[in-house]
Amino acid sequence: MLLKNTSAIFETVKKRNQNEPEFLQAVEEVLASIDPVLDNYPEYENVVKSIIEPERMIIFRVPWIDDNGTTQINRGFRVQFNSAIGPYKGGLRFHPSVNGSIIKFLGFEQIFKNSLTGLPIGGGKGGSDFDPKGKSNNEIMRFCQSFMTELSKYIGSSTDVPAGDIGVGAREIGYLYGQYKRIRGLNEGVLTGKGLSYGGSLTRTEATGYGLIYLVEEILKHHNKSIKDKTVIISGSGNVAIYATQKAMELGAKVVALSDSNGYIYDPDGIDLDAVKTIKEVERKRIKEYVKNHPNAKYHDGCKGIWSIKCDVALPCATQNEIDEESASLLVANGCIAVGEGANMPSTPEAIEVYQKNNILFAPAKAANAGGVAVSALEMSQNSMRLSWSFEEVDEKLKEIMKNIFVRISDAAKEYGNENNYVLGANIAGFLKVAEAMYAQGTV
Ligand code: NDP
Repeated sequence: MLLKNTSAIFETVKKRNQNEPEFLQAVEEVLASIDPVLDNYPEYENVVKSIIEPERMIIFRVPWIDDNGTTQINRGFRVQFNSAIGPYKGGLRFHPSVNGSIIKFLGFEQIFKNSLTGLPIGGGKGGSDFDPKGKSNNEIMRFCQSFMTELSKYIGSSTDVPAGDIGVGAREIGYLYGQYKRIRGLNEGVLTGKGLSYGGSLTRTEATGYGLIYLVEEILKHHNKSIKDKTVIISGSGNVAIYATQKAMELGAKVVALSDSNGYIYDPDGIDLDAVKTIKEVERKRIKEYVKNHPNAKYHDGCKGIWSIKCDVALPCATQNEIDEESASLLVANGCIAVGEGANMPSTPEAIEVYQKNNILFAPAKAANAGGVAVSALEMSQNSMRLSWSFEEVDEKLKEIMKNIFVRISDAAKEYGNENNYVLGANIAGFLKVAEAMYAQGTV
């Protein structure tokens, strides 16, 4: 990638973060998009230098005792990346692959995503290399309590408000919130994604998946197309994948494949979502269970093969770098017209190049999955006001937010001479608001 105004800045980032490939990948993409912005706003050069360095990164020990009475030690992280436009906001990920690079790439992307929502939230992210798979409820609870015992020193409803991500759903948020309250004695909106009986917001569970479909539909509409009657494949079978499937089906699409980290299912009749919800949300089992009761469906080992299925729309909703150049080329060869990123950074830079060369309509993660954090911000508003809005009210607001995100990214792309390049549009529009705030506050 050719950088004109920001190449020296990127050299410094590379030197400073040598063992952080995911973070460097995320930074390089943003720098490539905002490089031309410095022609118009040379005064933002220091903002760019500053925005790529987290305000702070907290790393801590998480000791907990497993069901055999053995002490286990995990590592906890919270990156408080940028608070220029509001309190740090971003999820917690519990997955064995979690390390400093992954937390920093996620926290960095969160700055721009949160800015795009139009709501006053800064960027943060956190998590642990704890693996929730195969752990008992009590082990999950003890881990969450130990994690929060340390994290509670750094967060608060006006400073830093974590939420869920991979491996952190309603159950984990409940245990984390309970421990925060025990330690701090505060009934405040310090976490989002809470249960409805203790301050959660209706529509938060559905928000990321629904928001993804709302944005993809806006893009399709802009090109005189619609998701109705389209064949869709969705990777993952967690929170984002399930509710993206639900909304896509509601709008008349046929979703034929889902996956988990072991493999994928293909059901030519269309996925039976109730069965998936039971397997994943109630029984907490593997996706391959699905084929036991669906004779026409097939299960295949390995995640990558899902991208070889013929589809009109592909929605990666599992994890980073899950679509590489080869998979992107397969999608193109099979006639795919649109890709929407439910997961964070699921397409490699080479895959994005393939989409762009082949005129695939591409909704990048910062815009496409912003619905989750947007409804989290609405949860914060409801908590502050001691109010609870109805499902319909929150869903309407979510739709409006996703429409506005489309307008912002589309306008920015056009203004910078790259109409329909929503990667560029999302990075520029997300950056400009934060840059203005940082510049005005003298924090650069
Ligand atoms: P969940 O934990 O609910 O589900 C994750 C899904 O992805 C599971 O099916 C999981 O399979 C699969 N998966 C996880 N890691 C890998 C891997 N390394 N390789 C292949 N498959 C994998 O997480 P979410 O649905 O919440 O998150 C999915 C993505 O969406 C993430 O990138 C997250 O950052 C992003 N996101 C989530 C938001 C939210 O509100 N939850 C908001 C914005 C973005 P298995 O069960 O086998 O691990």
